[in-house]
Amino acid sequence: MEWTDDIIIRLRSLWDEGLSTAEIGRRLSISKNAVVGKAHRLDLPARPSPIRRDPAAIGTLRDVAPRRVSGPTLPSLATPAAEPAIVPQIVPQVVARAPVPAAKPLRPSLIAAMAAPVRLAPRTPSCCWPIGEPGTPAFHFCGDPALANKPYCGPHAEIAYVRVRDRREDVA
Ligand SMILES: [Zn+2]
Repeated sequence: MEWTDDIIIRLRSLWDEGLSTAEIGRRLSISKNAVVGKAHRLDLPARPSPIRRDPAAIGTLRDVAPRRVSGPTLPSLATPAAEPAIVPQIVPQVVARAPVPAAKPLRPSLIAAMAAPVRLAPRTPSCCWPIGEPGTPAFHFCGDPALANKPYCGPHAEIAYVRVRDRREDVA
């Protein structure tokens, strides 16, 4: 067994890691006694408690470390969740801006559409006297030209006003 500088460096490294003398021996392909003897000659510090030099215990500690790292990682993932709070603030602005340019082209067409029936109504004022049973397909309005300042045509206006007179006479 030759203790080359390379092997001694690896021995010191494994020793500092807290590995057991048996484990160090396996990794350096030497006996446990060789490790203990060389460590004694190198005057390496005394081994920590048997628990700490247990590779399984070290492995556990190393497993815990990544978990602790994953802890802060989750909040960092939650951080993007804060961004949606900013996005809604942007969306309303976009939505608010969109209707403005969209309303400009719509308004002229809406005015024209509303102006068309308004123009037709005064030209052909028609009688609104209901004919037939309301709710049935046969139901319709008279449609004859209405009298000036009257919602009905001549005959229907006459009927309407006659009825008003009759009611008044009944009351009197
Ligand atoms: Zn009529």
